[in-house]
Amino acid sequence: MPQVYCRYCEQTYQTDDMEKCSLCRKTGGLVDPLSPDAVPMKVEQPSNAPQAGDVVRSVLLARRLVLCAVGGFFLIALGIWLVLQPELRSNPQRFSINDLGIGIGPILAGLFLLIVAFFTVRRLRAEKDSVPTVDQKSKTS
Ligand SMILES: [Zn+2]
Repeated sequence: MPQVYCRYCEQTYQTDDMEKCSLCRKTGGLVDPLSPDAVPMKVEQPSNAPQAGDVVRSVLLARRLVLCAVGGFFLIALGIWLVLQPELRSNPQRFSINDLGIGIGPILAGLFLLIVAFFTVRRLRAEKDSVPTVDQKSKTS
């Protein structure tokens, strides 16, 4: 497969389709990555290039957010389930503070994933807020 450079989303990849970019779905921006035309289409399309990149990044961030949130809740549930198992306790008749040690690992790992998810949400919000300011700058300049 030949290598192509997309002037809209500024990605170099291999494809047989020389008409439509499979990453940003735009036509007419694909060129040979070694040719002098392989430059970002920022002069002609000031607003499109950053938007396409932002969409790809937002999708990746959103996917990481879902994975971290689901994984975090799953690990915390697993930890709580382990703590509640009578067979795993040192004394099945009584619940002692030592029994918390069994589940503390998964719970801590789950909390860590939830913290990562929390910061991913904040980054997603920050990127969404930054899009209009980028547009304003390119319009005024
Ligand atoms: Zn593209």
